[in-house]
Amino acid sequence: MKYIDNGDLINKKVLVRVDFNVSQNEDGSISNDERIKQTLPTLKYLLESDNTLILISHLGNPKTIAEKFSLKPVAKRLQEYLLDYKVLFVNDYDQTLVKQMDTKTIYLLENLRFDPGEKTNAPEFAKKLASLADAYVNDAFSASHRAHASIVGVPKFLPSYAGLLLKKELETIGKAIENPQKPLVAILGGAKISSKIKLIGKFIEITNQIILAGGLAHNFFLAEGRQIGKSISEPTQLEHTKELIQKANKYNINITLPVDVIIQTGEIKKLDEVGESDQILDVGPESRASFSRIISEAKTIIWNGPLGMFEDPKFRNGTDAIYSAITHNENATSVVGGGDTLTAIAGKEGREKITHISTAGGAMLEFIENGTLPGIEALK
Ligand code: ADP
Ligand code: MG
Repeated sequence: MKYIDNGDLINKKVLVRVDFNVSQNEDGSISNDERIKQTLPTLKYLLESDNTLILISHLGNPKTIAEKFSLKPVAKRLQEYLLDYKVLFVNDYDQTLVKQMDTKTIYLLENLRFDPGEKTNAPEFAKKLASLADAYVNDAFSASHRAHASIVGVPKFLPSYAGLLLKKELETIGKAIENPQKPLVAILGGAKISSKIKLIGKFIEITNQIILAGGLAHNFFLAEGRQIGKSISEPTQLEHTKELIQKANKYNINITLPVDVIIQTGEIKKLDEVGESDQILDVGPESRASFSRIISEAKTIIWNGPLGMFEDPKFRNGTDAIYSAITHNENATSVVGGGDTLTAIAGKEGREKITHISTAGGAMLEFIENGTLPGIEALK
């Protein structure tokens, strides 16, 4: 695999796959721009070598073209960080764009997922993107677990390189979990149940303890025949969840679930008290205490996914408790990641106590499992 700092890329048109899938507020405005900031070293490095940059990214998971998923506000934000250049947002692009390109302009193309060819990895779409540039750079570690056109398709058509953020993620996560010190504790939360649940099987093999909260925990409650009311869950994953419970028993691994929860009214309930009309939105105080105890004894910690609907301050205590337990465990190596997890811990004190804060959630977990990702393989 070649990295951009090998000196090849000078005065070229470079297509850079970044992950500008930033956290958004309800109205579509940016709530956390960490992912933009983290790609700046790569962008600046390439700009200093007189390359012309064409940036590509997805944002959210749009079913159709919709204003809320436009990258236009991202172009505006990026402009604030790169004042010596003009950031031009490009909605429609073809070869005419290439003829007009100049080195003082950075071109940010509209959300890749507005074209169905992105997710299906359509060769025509990959070719269309590749035709805009002389070289391709992947700096989107957090999207590299997806075999989409911009990740695995384009490198088939262009000389390809890994960006500096991708390099840093690979090296630091790799180092943190290579021969991890035990006990290794994984904490998994959030809302993306189906994409995260498939990783639990391997985690059962490599960790000592798994703490689950959010949607994942609800699926386990369902599998145990418990009432979860209106809480988020994915019933289609129920069989899989039951298999995971059996596997955990076989490996003698403790999957720790919340024992108490906070429902939509703010009321604390024991699990048995959850009724049909309740919605579980955070873990309760007993759960916070027991999770914190487990984390305090860990030597290696992997955390992805908020423990509750942290966007509402009423439901962020679980997430805050985990953050606090991790940053207070000075003896552990810790890797924390996920787009929303990053938003939840943005601006908090003690972040330097975390060994590595990754821009990636699903990709981080998959990289820990498999030691590589489709996007990394595509660069080789
Ligand atoms: P990440 O981006 O860190 O990988 P996810 O995208 O999987 O995490 O999930 C983040 C979302 O999960 C947040 O918007 C949060 O509100 C939501 N969430 C967490 N717990 C719950 C819950 N119990 N009920 C509803 N939503 C939840
Ligand atoms: Mg997310």
